[in-house]
Amino acid sequence: MHTEEYVASVTASIQQSRKNLGKDTYLCEGSFDVLLQSIGAVLRAGEVVANGSCDHSFALVRPPGHHSGKCTSGGFCIFNNSAILVHFLRHAFGIKKVAILNIDAHASDGTYGIFSADPEVLCISVHQDPLKVYPYTGFIKDIGVRPALGLSINMEMPPRSGNREYGILFEDIIEKVMRKFDPEIIIVECGFDAYHKESLSELDLTVDGYYDMINLLASQWKVVCLLEGGYHEDIGLLSAVVLEGLMGRRTIKDGIDQVDLLASRHINTRKEFQEKLSKLKLILNPYWDLNKPALCHTK
Ligand SMILES: [Zn+2]
Repeated sequence: MHTEEYVASVTASIQQSRKNLGKDTYLCEGSFDVLLQSIGAVLRAGEVVANGSCDHSFALVRPPGHHSGKCTSGGFCIFNNSAILVHFLRHAFGIKKVAILNIDAHASDGTYGIFSADPEVLCISVHQDPLKVYPYTGFIKDIGVRPALGLSINMEMPPRSGNREYGILFEDIIEKVMRKFDPEIIIVECGFDAYHKESLSELDLTVDGYYDMINLLASQWKVVCLLEGGYHEDIGLLSAVVLEGLMGRRTIKDGIDQVDLLASRHINTRKEFQEKLSKLKLILNPYWDLNKPALCHTK
């Protein structure tokens, strides 16, 4: 959650007609209303799942939130939607264990900063290797701090990683960790900038990849998706795919040629991915015992 001083400084900046917060987060006259409406939609999306009236939900909101820390803005984000939702779920519904999964192409640094010491929140971020990419944090070695060591997981996806690499990561680590943690609700920081047509990243997810990830989660847990980044004109199509993934009903097919996509990929992508995956397993094993199977979880 944010400090009162930070919220007051955002409000003052808007009232003073400042055009931005820092160098990359924009403001305008209507920003405060938009922020309140956006947070209202996020809370509503959490409420309908928490009270049982919906199995899953998707808040299609802007601005995004995952780069915003306790008292910082950044990367177009002003307030951290996931953190505000966790706070709401705890206080309004008594929900204790929440998992947050970021699939935006950029590391969920704001969310990590807020929850890295919180033993009741599992934070997983799957993003492009941040060595040369914003926010330049979110490395495999970043696993949270006491008393929540091991409850933050960061995976650096090499450039040109696509459906197959994400699929392996979900199967080998994310699904196992989720089963062991057993969250009451999963919040997905659903960014569409890991899409293969997106120019802001070098990742290669397709419609198939997004559907499979969301459907795998929704078939086992309660899921609240929150829109994060993604700037290609196909984000409408991808939003529809996510809704289909939540419902488990597929009608939208991938129109792209997987062979062409694979042929364009850097030859070392899979090798580099496997090396990073092994490194991540090694670091997480003391906390999650990934070789020992977890019981299959059903909602
Ligand atoms: Zn992003």
